[in-house]
Amino acid sequence: MKCNLIGGEWCAGATSRRNVNPSDTDDVVGEYAHADAEQTRTAIDAACDAQRTWRDSGIQARSTALDCIGTELLARQTELGTLLSREEGKILAEGVAEVARAGQIFKFFAAEAVRTGGEKLPSVRPFVDVEVTREPVGVVGVITPWNFPIAIPAWKIAPALAYGNSVVFKPADLVPGSAWALADIIHRSGIPRGVFNLVMGRGSVVGETMATSPEVNAISFTGSVETGQRLLLQGARQFKRLQLEMGGKNPLVILDDADLDVAVDCAIQGAYYSTGQRCTASSRFIVQKGIYVRFVSRLADALERLRVGHALDPDTHIGPVVDDAQLKQDEAYVGIGRNEGATLVCGGASLDRSTRGYFLSPALFADASPKMRIAREEIFGPVACAIPVETYEEALAVANDSEFGLSAGICTTSLKYATHFKRHVRSGMTMVNVPTAGVDYHVPFGGTKSSSYGSREQGTYAVEFFTTVKTSYTKAYYE
Ligand code: ADP
Repeated sequence: MKCNLIGGEWCAGATSRRNVNPSDTDDVVGEYAHADAEQTRTAIDAACDAQRTWRDSGIQARSTALDCIGTELLARQTELGTLLSREEGKILAEGVAEVARAGQIFKFFAAEAVRTGGEKLPSVRPFVDVEVTREPVGVVGVITPWNFPIAIPAWKIAPALAYGNSVVFKPADLVPGSAWALADIIHRSGIPRGVFNLVMGRGSVVGETMATSPEVNAISFTGSVETGQRLLLQGARQFKRLQLEMGGKNPLVILDDADLDVAVDCAIQGAYYSTGQRCTASSRFIVQKGIYVRFVSRLADALERLRVGHALDPDTHIGPVVDDAQLKQDEAYVGIGRNEGATLVCGGASLDRSTRGYFLSPALFADASPKMRIAREEIFGPVACAIPVETYEEALAVANDSEFGLSAGICTTSLKYATHFKRHVRSGMTMVNVPTAGVDYHVPFGGTKSSSYGSREQGTYAVEFFTTVKTSYTKAYYE
């Protein structure tokens, strides 16, 4: 059994949980510890005790440890990518790429650790100097979802450690394998005991204990809107610092002047790759009338050619949905779309393969309207809808008609519309002729409205969340 890492020791949990392959439910990836509230509190205490040592260890020690973690992730990307795809269900190429991304993120923050700066300014008062410096926040709770089992933990843990915080990491229940592998690498990187703790277990137990513990100074979370809201309300009582990344209902606008090949490629990659299980996935194609029929038919043809199957089969384009509950939710939305009067052009059926898994053919609805539930609610699967519009102005209005605002794309060859869209679409990220999903790691990630709360993740902007600013006034002499 794989254990939790608490205060530098591997500890069995109060219970354990089987990790099952969604491509083949007869394949058990492993048995993983499940902590109770008491074990979670022990991990938080360990993180508190270790925080000062880490803060005072200096930027070179922190940078060296992060660089070492990044090196090992990159060296083992095929092995760990295989594990990731086996437990989460994204295809092998995506699993390997995700591990490589995690490695790059650790390397990036290894460099950022030694770059942390401050300011020295003259005071408005004579003989006084002012310094502005950054300090770690303290103990950071990291709570992550199942859809990026190693990249999301990496982009929260790496900056937390780089800036001198200690960490209590609670991964999603469905993907403990990647989390454990990452914890093992971090444990062997030379960081002091207790600086990094892995606590696998239920959100309602481990996550809740972290959320309500005053010793946890900040929580960086990615997951559902409901859980994010709950964390926010619980955190508010303690003035806890929170960074919440939640849902999306990301639009991809396709104008009449778009290059059709580019538009179809953006639609497939953005909406269906990674089985559509990305918060940045396109789920609304907002298509101008002049290109609408051609776009829908070309996209449907391309979708029919995609092979859905076992994530580790090299011929597979789309792996399984992550579990039975998610499959049922996707199928329910296919039913909802039909009942609302949208046209199911292709897909939406569960598929039998040689192994028992949660396979669903990629679904495309046409003739959807912006008020339909399939056009408003996050489905989180390979299900998307096309909404016809007359003009660019109508497309923009429909794109903005959402409670979410994470990523928004447009396919056009017009500089005028591309520029206008970038300026006026209400989202944290905007894409022109590139898919809504798929981002760089050295620039900020995050959204507006119900998609995100708190300061941005990733790149140099991550420093805002993982540090607090101190202003010091010094009067060293008087004449
Ligand atoms: P998803 O649908 O992506 O799984 P969730 O919000 O349910 O979204 O889960 C995201 C993460 O939040 C997971 O690690 C989960 O275990 C954790 N979580 C779930 N419920 C709570 C809670 N009440 N408090 C803290 N964390 C929670």
